[in-house]
Amino acid sequence: MTEKHDQETETRLDTVFAATREMFELPEGVIYLDGNSLGPLPVTARRRVFDEIDAQWGARLIKGWNESGWIDLPQATGARIAALVGAPKDSVVACDSTSVNLFKVLSAALQMRADRRVLLSDSGNFPTDLYIAQGLLGRLDGGHELKIVEPDAVADAIDENVAALMLTEVDYRTGRLHDMADLTERAHDAGALAVWDLAHSAGALPVRLEEAGVDFAVGCGYKYLNGGPGAPAFLYLRPGLAAQIRPVLSGWMGHEAPFAFDTDYRPAPGIGRMLVGTPPVLAMASLHAALEVWDGVGMSDLRVRSIELSQRFIAEVEKRCPELVLASPRDPHARGSHVSFRFPQGYAVMQALISHGVIGDFRAPDLLRFGFAPLYLCPSDAVRAAEILEATLRDRLWDRPEFRQKMKVT
Ligand SMILES: *Cc1c(COP(=O)(O)O)cnc(C)c1O
Repeated sequence: MTEKHDQETETRLDTVFAATREMFELPEGVIYLDGNSLGPLPVTARRRVFDEIDAQWGARLIKGWNESGWIDLPQATGARIAALVGAPKDSVVACDSTSVNLFKVLSAALQMRADRRVLLSDSGNFPTDLYIAQGLLGRLDGGHELKIVEPDAVADAIDENVAALMLTEVDYRTGRLHDMADLTERAHDAGALAVWDLAHSAGALPVRLEEAGVDFAVGCGYKYLNGGPGAPAFLYLRPGLAAQIRPVLSGWMGHEAPFAFDTDYRPAPGIGRMLVGTPPVLAMASLHAALEVWDGVGMSDLRVRSIELSQRFIAEVEKRCPELVLASPRDPHARGSHVSFRFPQGYAVMQALISHGVIGDFRAPDLLRFGFAPLYLCPSDAVRAAEILEATLRDRLWDRPEFRQKMKVT
């Protein structure tokens, strides 16, 4: 790119993201670098939830299921998420939690590869993913094995014993990014299925589920999608796959005709069969409304700005805080939208930072983690956060008993 182009791009990105920043309610004086754990409140979500309470639930009562479109929210919300993860709009539903959705897709994948015994994952995966796999495999009596290898050893561990690959694209600690298309292709070449967790990818970087041929994916609604605390998660099925699945969690919302009240389960056509019970309408409406923020935002623009923010932050921190060690890949194309630094007293440092208005989080044993969401952060925020981090370390502001008090949620 020429310098003129660079400048034009910068100006355009500034305009796009200045507009999205206006769509959030952020407390005064806070630099929010934890949207990778819980996205902030979009104005549209606040309005929508109050409207659902007053005008829909309050005024319409049970008529809301039909008149307010509550019954279709899992599909309508899924369609909005599909646009962000490179999927056809009827291939995603919003429902349940990421953990529960993972149970649903893993059980489907293992049924589809009933002659194989290995579920392959890596040591960088998020604990709930591994726990769900352990719980599921423990209930099957066919001698299944959860094989966990180092992240860079996954490609070589794929063989014809593997029923499915179960990976998280972006490592929740370091931000390391797997090559989803390449690993999916390798899995398919070996006759295995590919299951991806997009918890730290959806809304953080371009994802091309359909193009990569991914079979199953799950992800979070409350992180980069800003759906609110405990917002429903999502679930993706490769187009055409649904017909092969007999859901293990065969609830009435996944039935072909829930209001026929038949004795026997018959799966709904398409991805609808992956639904289980009654959707949490208020939480789902919040997520559905929060997704409006993405109208007019291109994922490639988002990626350019995200890299700019994280590169700037790393450069400023390394210049100002030599005692911190970068735990994330240095190459921005090898990581997602968050960065982590190691420091032995990381927990206390993060508590001190939070008390000074820079909100990130801590991941055991020693990681300071900072998320960079372009929708509401600009380059000057990255610089200001690094300045406050510098002062926190230089003046040992963290070295106080109250900052060592561990809370339930870190
Ligand atoms: C945040 C996260 C989850 C969370 O799962 P819940 O069921 O919503 O609690 C799952 N997997 C990964 C990789 C995550 O980062």
